[in-house]
Amino acid sequence: MTSPPSPILPGATIGFLGGGQLGRMTAFAARSMGYDIHVLDPEASCATRPVASRTITAPFNDVAAAIELASQCDVVTLEIEQIHPDVLDAVASRTALRPGRDPVYIIQDRIRQKQWLKAQGFPLGNFVAAQQASDVADAVRSFGPCIAKSTHGGYDGRGQVRLSEPEQGDGAWSALGSRECLVEQKVDIHYELSVLVARSPSGAVAVYPPSRNHHTSGVLTWAVVPAVISDDMTSRAQTLARNVAERIGIVGLLAVECFVTTGGELLVNELAPRPHNTYHHSERGLATSQFEQLVRAICDLPLGSTELFAPSAIANLLGDVWLQDTAPDMSYALQVPGSRVHLYGKAGARAGRKMGHLSAVGDTAQDALGRVLDCYRRLSPGTIASFDVHEPVLSHISS
Ligand code: ADP
Ligand code: MG
Repeated sequence: MTSPPSPILPGATIGFLGGGQLGRMTAFAARSMGYDIHVLDPEASCATRPVASRTITAPFNDVAAAIELASQCDVVTLEIEQIHPDVLDAVASRTALRPGRDPVYIIQDRIRQKQWLKAQGFPLGNFVAAQQASDVADAVRSFGPCIAKSTHGGYDGRGQVRLSEPEQGDGAWSALGSRECLVEQKVDIHYELSVLVARSPSGAVAVYPPSRNHHTSGVLTWAVVPAVISDDMTSRAQTLARNVAERIGIVGLLAVECFVTTGGELLVNELAPRPHNTYHHSERGLATSQFEQLVRAICDLPLGSTELFAPSAIANLLGDVWLQDTAPDMSYALQVPGSRVHLYGKAGARAGRKMGHLSAVGDTAQDALGRVLDCYRRLSPGTIASFDVHEPVLSHISS
């Protein structure tokens, strides 16, 4: 492997494997800092394209295309973990790949990831690796209600089947493609947290304040910081995330998604070796956004402060609130003080597709979350009902 000069200073070129919204927002931050951007993505009109000086259109298993990317970049990072290992190897043999092959390889397969976390002694819910349909049914017999998850390619709750009876095992197995899958016991969740950790090649670490997150049907609805949890839970979650990041040897960002159970246990849900939807509020309320922090980490610059300057919250905008291909009128949302609209420039709104997000800062977490949900309601009056289920969570945060 070629070792690049360290640090990689502004003026250099950063390559992205993946050109979705995470790449786009990181590329904006990198551009502000004076870096050039190249991107590889299967879609020619990917969200990062307008921010990149070069776009290579190729699938994530195209070794030749990845070599072309690597040959012109001082460092290559990724915004999606589903990159073929041969591509990771090819890039790493030509330039600095950050994060490196090993953490991405562990994380990109849900079973491999769970087994690694278990072997390292990190706290997890019960799970089995199902090799056949009867294993799925057996898991439900021993655990009760379960969630079966495909090993690769699932995101935003896709590639998952919920089941409560052993008789549903066959259906779940075939819905997931009749191949090896992960079956997890359904955790009795009190609330969900995530903790973002940045680590540089020299081993410097910065840990973010935990984010409190709410999902609807497996998709993130909103996230808020501070999480309004006890100091003890804050320090347990931050220590856990830091330990995972150091053990897996991440260089760049690692998001650790956690469940806090009704019994007060802290469990790891899953890992992401990249910027994370639950930290989009870091652009508003924290000293260093996750996007700038990724650039600092992979370029071996000093990591930025993770200090909270203002309580801040985001709400996702899915294609559901678009009318055919027409975006809702954002001027209604922007009437709310402290709000901002973030759109990803994607053509083709589809139900469930992340098109953008809203953000707001406020005096307290409750205030910031209330404002961002107010923005959301102004954009999508027809969907107010879907937010009713969040009101108890909102009032819980204030207590
Ligand atoms: P994704 O890659 O789609 O984010 P996750 O495994 O994080 O997949 O699942 C999405 C959401 O579904 C979680 O944030 C949580 O709300 C819910 N979920 C996932 N696994 C479990 C589980 N074992 N028990 C209870 N809820 C779960
Ligand atoms: Mg998740």
